[in-house]
Amino acid sequence: MFVDTHCHLTMLDLTPYDGSLDQALAQARLAGVSKFMGISVDLDDHKKLAEIASRHADVGYSVGVHPCEDADVMAQATTEYLVSLAQSDKVWAIGETGLDYYHSTDFIEEQKRCFARHIEASKIVKKPVVVHTRAAKHDTVDIIKAEQSAYGILHCFTEDWETAKAVLDCGYYISFSGIVSFKNAQDLRDVAKQVPLDRLLIETDSPYLAPAPFRGKTNEPKYVPYVAKALSDVYDKSVEEIGRITTQNFENLLNLK
Ligand SMILES: [Zn+2]
Ligand SMILES: [Zn+2]
Repeated sequence: MFVDTHCHLTMLDLTPYDGSLDQALAQARLAGVSKFMGISVDLDDHKKLAEIASRHADVGYSVGVHPCEDADVMAQATTEYLVSLAQSDKVWAIGETGLDYYHSTDFIEEQKRCFARHIEASKIVKKPVVVHTRAAKHDTVDIIKAEQSAYGILHCFTEDWETAKAVLDCGYYISFSGIVSFKNAQDLRDVAKQVPLDRLLIETDSPYLAPAPFRGKTNEPKYVPYVAKALSDVYDKSVEEIGRITTQNFENLLNLK
């Protein structure tokens, strides 16, 4: 069993499934995926994800605005607004939020404020926050540290051990995507080796970042076992064992209050 803790279900390429997301999910279940967390990036995603989650017992979703959105979109993600969207049991997390100075340096202050509001909402509703960070590790850690009582997931982890340790010390979980399976990602695998097994999660971040041997192709939730496969080599455990551990970790995370 595997949980895809981060998939953009509203953005998948459904061409191989005649446009049917239900079929894509069915294929993923056949590959052993037992839960899917659909991730919001803008103010519309949550509506589509709520509809999908209402039809599938194994789908939950997050509500939030991505740091690459425009400032006026981020401004609409007030704490109150996020809290109001997060009332359903099907909302498992707040995000994705965070900081991305690689794609956008126009609105750094807005990104920081928006990130802080997501953490605030996460604390109020007692659901984990899903954090994206790119070219912004120091500011990301500073904001996470400033909000000590929050908890969540640092998703699609690609940073160094110092960053991993800082967020682990704050109670966060670390989620690896297909990047950890790439040939040239030995440094990342060396960092992964140091992450305690009880804080480890896996994700596809589909439709991006397909794991080896599908690198460069469009990604989908059914490939999440290949992320577990890469980590199974890192930890010298079976793929099934990594699946079992990361599934249990996700359950634990959702039950933290
Ligand atoms: Zn992200
Ligand atoms: Zn994402």
